[in-house]
Amino acid sequence: MSVFRRALREAMGEGSGARRWVYVPYDQLTHAIGPLSRLRPSEAGIVLIENPEKGARRPYHKQKLALVLTSQRHFALEQAKRGVAVRYEVGPYGDTLRRLSGELGPLTMMRPAERELREELAPLVQDGALVEEPHEGWLTTPEDFSASCGDPPWRMDTFYRHVRTRTGILMDDDGQPAGGRLSFDADNRKAWPGEPAPPEVPRFRPDDITREVAALVEDRFGGHPGILDVGALPASQAQVRRLWDWARTSCLPGFGPYEDAMASGERTLWHTRISGVLNLHRITPREVLDDVLALELPLASKEGFIRQLLGWREFVHHVHEATDGLRSVPSNVLGASRDLPAAWWGTPSGLRCLDEVVRAVWEEGYSHHITRLMVLSNLALLLDVDPRQLTDWFWVAYTDAYDWVVEPNVLGMGAFATGTLMITKPYVSGAAYIHRMSDYCAGCAFHPKKDCPITPMYWAFLQRHRASLEGNPRMAMPLASCARRSDAQRQRDAAVFERVGELLTAGGLVRPDDVAP
Ligand SMILES: Cc1cc2nc3c(=O)[nH]c(=O)nc-3n(C[C@H](O)[C@H](O)[C@H](O)COP(=O)(O)OP(=O)(O)OC[C@H]3O[C@@H](n4cnc5c(N)ncnc54)[C@H](O)[C@@H]3O)c2cc1C
Ligand code: SF4
Repeated sequence: MSVFRRALREAMGEGSGARRWVYVPYDQLTHAIGPLSRLRPSEAGIVLIENPEKGARRPYHKQKLALVLTSQRHFALEQAKRGVAVRYEVGPYGDTLRRLSGELGPLTMMRPAERELREELAPLVQDGALVEEPHEGWLTTPEDFSASCGDPPWRMDTFYRHVRTRTGILMDDDGQPAGGRLSFDADNRKAWPGEPAPPEVPRFRPDDITREVAALVEDRFGGHPGILDVGALPASQAQVRRLWDWARTSCLPGFGPYEDAMASGERTLWHTRISGVLNLHRITPREVLDDVLALELPLASKEGFIRQLLGWREFVHHVHEATDGLRSVPSNVLGASRDLPAAWWGTPSGLRCLDEVVRAVWEEGYSHHITRLMVLSNLALLLDVDPRQLTDWFWVAYTDAYDWVVEPNVLGMGAFATGTLMITKPYVSGAAYIHRMSDYCAGCAFHPKKDCPITPMYWAFLQRHRASLEGNPRMAMPLASCARRSDAQRQRDAAVFERVGELLTAGGLVRPDDVAP
């Protein structure tokens, strides 16, 4: 018998009595919300399912598979120790739940956050084997979204203003935002000059449960990409607490100013790395929000973090729900169709910014927001990469990726695939931005101001997509600058785009000679 099964049997003890049974999906691992929160442990029973087919459905990063499995197994043990009866099953979701509902009676469940799981369970909800209740993990309601955003296009800042006003969070008594501004975003754009030293990311001692999960992942999903690092997995509730304590005390005081900075040796800077456990509900958004509000922090840092949690995170969830996962809206408005180059899977590209971030992702299943947006998505956008392929890559590569969060962030934001549905303009830049906000260019074969191909690719992007972007007031200046480029410059821009695209699509390296002016 496995270490986990033995530990679960010991934790559960003998005889469980009559129970009210709740199905807990893999990303709702908490008893702080939902039906489980309203039952005494002695009257509650939970069903947890490990579905090998789900793990094999996409080539998920091994670290992600390990995080989900060890979190779910630790949650099972923690609940058993509270006195909750646990049925821990291995198999497909639908068949397993149907069998159990026959045996135990209809199971209650909170609405799954992932569309993919909702679809899979819809027949069971329809015939009453599963009784669906609202998901209580969100901090905002569909009414918040409809009242503030109405018909598309939708804007995060309109939603955020509405939610701040309705909840009174970071609002003064006179109804004005604390500090006189809704957002301190403009204060949070400093490059990091190499000091002060960022907090050291915590490591966790793997227990027998985590080690067993790691062996299972290597055995069953050994062909999946990514490095499995058990010391980086916050698995038990105590480890999740330690991660959050570190984030609260060490990261949040410095969170604001360097939020947009990127550095090759410091992949986290002052970011909290909380998204992986937050999206699994090993800690709830409510707990995080309450803790942050109670902290003494510089306002720019406090507001900056709350905007991410209460603003962006909630907003993308509502966009996903309102568009059937971006499926009811056009989701490739630029008609981009290049296959995602092998560079995203770890083949060196010669572009140091891209190679550094890709390395971080396959080593850790993590990189912070700006690297996702201004390196990985920016370069894919400049190359006209098929947005669905880019989305699917993000989905498998990151430990915090689930459809409700990855689809709007990639399709709606990074790849500009839904146009101005949820952002005002494409997030594209040449080398100047990457050079200003990072240290990647030092040590690159290219010089950001001389021969870096990203800048001509940026101009070529504007030139190619001029017709789609014209009329957008936020693009007026870049398009005007683009129009001032000479014919010779434009020809070179297009040639660099073609050449870099050709080389990367073939899995090759881009060298200065390939794109020499
Ligand atoms: C192209 C792209 C893909 C992304 N894919 C994902 C994804 O699959 N899963 C995911 O959780 N986030 C995703 N994000 C959002 C964001 O990059 C991550 O939430 C963040 O980097 C997680 O690291 P952190 O916990 O250190 O974040 P911090 O910088 O410490 O931020 C705090 C928290 O704010 C929340 N947050 C901030 N921005 C967003 C956002 N745009 N959407 C949702 N939550 C947000 C997260 O919960 C995060 O933990 C993506 C962003 C982009 C641009
Ligand atoms: S020089 Fe260009 S390719 Fe090299 S790291 Fe800088 S932006 Fe990236």
